[in-house]
Order: sequence, then C-alpha cells, then structure tokens
Amino acid sequence: MSDVAARYFDGESARQIDVVVQIGPQNVVVRDDAENVLAVWPPDEVRLVVKPVGGRPLQLAHGKGVARVVIADTSCQAALERLCPNLNKLRPGFREVWRPIALWTSVAAASAAFLFLVAIPFAAKQAAQSIPPEIEARLGEAAVDQIARFFTVGDEAVYCSSPQGDVALSTLSQRLVSQVDLPYPLTIRVIESPIVNAFTLPGGQILVFSELLEFADGPEEVAGVLAHEIGHAVRRHPMEIFAANAGSATLIGLLLGDISGGSVVGALVQFTVRAAYTRDAEREADADAVDILNGAGIDGAGFVDFFDRLLGEEDSRLRDALAVINTHPPTDERSEFVRKSITASGAAMSDAQWQALKNICGDEED
Ligand SMILES: [Zn+2]
Repeated sequence: MSDVAARYFDGESARQIDVVVQIGPQNVVVRDDAENVLAVWPPDEVRLVVKPVGGRPLQLAHGKGVARVVIADTSCQAALERLCPNLNKLRPGFREVWRPIALWTSVAAASAAFLFLVAIPFAAKQAAQSIPPEIEARLGEAAVDQIARFFTVGDEAVYCSSPQGDVALSTLSQRLVSQVDLPYPLTIRVIESPIVNAFTLPGGQILVFSELLEFADGPEEVAGVLAHEIGHAVRRHPMEIFAANAGSATLIGLLLGDISGGSVVGALVQFTVRAAYTRDAEREADADAVDILNGAGIDGAGFVDFFDRLLGEEDSRLRDALAVINTHPPTDERSEFVRKSITASGAAMSDAQWQALKNICGDEED
C-alpha cells in the first residue's frame, strides 16, 4: 500500500508534526519530512481511537500508547482494515474517555487526549501535593457535614456514637493509624446511612457508613476497608480528585489559604460525592492497606473476603446500594494482590467490641 500524508501527535508534547505513514503488512511506519522514523507500529496493534463518521479523519493509536496518527484522507480506510485486523476494536476502558471527543475536530481531539491522559492527572497530583495540609484539613472539616448529609436519609447528618462503640472504633483506628505517617490527623466516624460504603474526604475526614458495618461479616473486614481508606488519606487522593475537577481559580485560592465564601466547599461537595478513584489510586491504597494490616498484626483475609463478596454480587439493585463498588471498584487483580501479601493473622478486636461497634448507631440499651 502506498504512503499516506498524516499528522502525528506524540502525546508527550502539544506539538503536531506533518508525517508520511507507510502502511505495510509488516509494520506501520511513521516518518517526518526529514525521513526520521518517529514510530513503528505492528499492524495487529493499530486501532482506531474513535469510529470515523461522516468523513472525519482517521485517528490511529497503537497498543496502550498515547501517540496518535491522524489521517485526513479516509479513502485508505478499507486498505487499513485489511492490514490491521484489530483496527475497529476499541481499547477497553477507552470508550468513555473518547466518546465525547469524537464530536470535536481531530486536532482538538488529539490535544484533548493529551490533556485528559497526561497533563491533567499530572497537574492534579502536583496541585494536591502543593496545597498546605493544614488548609486541606480545614477544607475537609468545613465540608464534612454537607457530604455526610448527602448520604443520609433525613435532613441532618447523624454521626453515630455509643460509649462502647466509640472505644471499639477509636482503639481499632489508633492501631491502624500508628502504622503510617500522616499529613494531618484523621477523624474517623460512623454515619447513619443505608448505603454500603466508606468515604475519605480531603483533610483526613473518614466516614464509615453504618450499612457497611451491617454488611461486614466480621471486624477484620471493617479493618481492611478502614486501612484502605487510610491509604487514600495518606496519599491525599481525595485532594487529587478535587484538584483535577476544581477550576484553577479555586485552586489558586486554596494555595493562598482561602476557603472562605463557601464556593470552595460547595465545589468540594459537588465533586467528591460521586468521585471514583483511578485504578492506580486503588492499587496504591491497597498496597498501603496491606502494610497497615500486616504491621498492626490484623488478618487481611477479611479484606479479601469483603472484596470477593462485592465481586460476586450480581443483583443490580443490590449493587446500587453497594456504593463501595462504584467508588472503589473491586477487581480480581486487587483481590489477588491482597491475598498474596497477607502476613498477619490476628483479630481486629474482641467479639464484645465488635458487637459494640456494630450497634454504634443502634438505639438498644447497652
Ligand atoms: Zn479506594
């Protein structure tokens, strides 16, 4: 097949380069005007980034790479399809990211790709780490009631408390927290909610939903979930999500220590209640959870059991209530990683403490 004129985006800079693409049975070779080879892609790894509709340019990607080749002359599509057997298979997980971009021009799509895949996550990580921890802690404190209220049935957030339940929770929390270096002190509370989840806000505010205590088969399951949330807090993941979604004016205000006026808090509530962590963030929090549990001498098998029960849940109505599936997506890989990393076998607390924790929201007499 003959050479085709195209534009090349390496995905690492915003630059676009005029290139010639040679599409052959052995390789797809991308060369610039000076004949420098910029990329060599095996044909079976070449895929269309979006379905080309209405004569839009063909956008090609390779494997999991961020580089793109954009071909304006769509007449080569049939030849491409013959040579590249996987051309029309969208990459798993990419559909969601790319669908809205398909409406834009190819140039806008390629620079948006760069922004979504490289620049924003990087900038968000940087921004989150440069916010002073004290400011983040104040922000979390200011937002926690509104966020807790979002998950409760009534008008006001209900933080559960009972003398023995409080002791059980704080004893377990101390045991876990003593294993890590924290950017700020953690506040770990149970809120009354019909949803199975646990939630970490910026600034170390951790909420365990009462229905999660109900769903848990034992205190080691709760310890595993808490250790995972502590991992998110240590790495300031909630702040990263917020930084990725908040406008730059909000972030600059935060950097200067301004959380007044309510708009920052409002934005935080808006962006965090439905936020899901990335796969990488989940992996990091799991790795921390395993270290925390092992260091505290608590059996991680409970954490694996919790995962496996979530993974096995097929009833879609129940899945909705198991919000933990959406915010911390369970996978076989996560389950397997935790399973093979367990070194401790101790209990998280006594049976009496577990009963007290389970009843922390209950109104039965002690
Ligand atoms: Zn998570």
